[in-house]
Amino acid sequence: MIIQFPTPYPDELLYSVISRYHVRAGNVFWKHTLEDLFGKRTISASVFLPSGIGSLVQHLPKNTTLNEQIFIEKHTMYPFYTVFLPTEKAQSIYESMISDDGKKIYMQSGIMASSIQQNKYLRYCSACAEEDIATYGEMYWHRIHQLPGNLICTKHELWLEDSDVLITHSNKHAFILPTTSNCDLNGKRRITETSLIQLKNIVLQAENLLNRKYQNQPFSHFTQFYRYQLIEKGYASFKGQVKQKALNDAFYNLYSEELLKNLCIEPGATQWIANFSRKHRKSFHPYYHLLMLNFLDLDVNAAFEETSFENTPFGHPYWPCLNSTCPDYKKNVIKKVTIRRCEKTKKPIGRFTCPTCGFSYTRKGMDPNKDYCYKFSRIMDFGFLWKRELQLLLNDGLSYREIARRLGVDTNTVIKYEKKNIECEQKAKSSDR
Ligand SMILES: [Zn+2]
Ligand SMILES: [Zn+2]
Repeated sequence: MIIQFPTPYPDELLYSVISRYHVRAGNVFWKHTLEDLFGKRTISASVFLPSGIGSLVQHLPKNTTLNEQIFIEKHTMYPFYTVFLPTEKAQSIYESMISDDGKKIYMQSGIMASSIQQNKYLRYCSACAEEDIATYGEMYWHRIHQLPGNLICTKHELWLEDSDVLITHSNKHAFILPTTSNCDLNGKRRITETSLIQLKNIVLQAENLLNRKYQNQPFSHFTQFYRYQLIEKGYASFKGQVKQKALNDAFYNLYSEELLKNLCIEPGATQWIANFSRKHRKSFHPYYHLLMLNFLDLDVNAAFEETSFENTPFGHPYWPCLNSTCPDYKKNVIKKVTIRRCEKTKKPIGRFTCPTCGFSYTRKGMDPNKDYCYKFSRIMDFGFLWKRELQLLLNDGLSYREIARRLGVDTNTVIKYEKKNIECEQKAKSSDR
């Protein structure tokens, strides 16, 4: 057991805390630090997803409040790399990190298979570093600065910089703290306005992945989630047929080549978008999720909400009455839509009935946009108010043409309903007798 272990700073990488221990303990060789903290020299304490955390906790001073969960969730890249994995996979990585055997971790996390390259050097923000020196008297490696790619510090809106400290994934350990000699704090690169907004959004969402706790979901959840969203946004038919070209075009229209390169994503690549919009059979790097979510005007929270993924081809209530004689004309008063499928085209057909006047119409879906709610395919019932209005106009002796104009229908409809009204009257009279 060791006597003193440094208290981790906010968002500090465990690797950084161990490096600080190494310096404070006055150890000359890394292997002595490994022996102190893990009880053995053969541990694979990698920078991002280290193992041996169970052994480390056992060697900590008795009165410590630190435990496995705090280390893994607050001081490693675990939350970022496992959030989109199914529960069993995330759990398996978690257990590997607690165990002394970390060989499988990178394979399991999908980092190796991903085309998104890991950074070569540990990274830092010059302004954060200056603040840390002022607050804590020293620098440390921030977890958030180690996301892959060429990213920014969202707090200071500066580009992150490469330090001189190599990230090694092998067992060749070197515990090195950031200092003014391996990090140049003078070169502050401000970001230009155009590259700022989108990149900042993506990085903020990535920060959410690191800092909040999301419930892992099976692949089927994301399949359903994205399918639902693509239908809602019009990039897939109601049946789920993805409009791949429209989707690709809109996606690459939104994201600049520069932004994608900063995230290590190949500009113009369409295969992953195709895979992503169909059934999820494997995990995708979090960046693909973040880009797609941002593209769909959603944040990370939405991807983990437990909701039903039932698409509504006519949007959500309420819908307007389309009877010009109704006091609720074009007001959103209809609460319910009944949907059936067109036998021929299989498209959804919604039927809407006004509670005020009984006017009832259908519309073929799905609605491409909100303004579409003022269109109808067929009138199923004109409702009692309209029929009463027709009778009043007929009684006034107006021409069929004029009545048709006032009621917004053709003259044939007026003639047809006049006959119907007469029939109804006759029926009513005969039943009175
Ligand atoms: Zn900063
Ligand atoms: Zn109405």
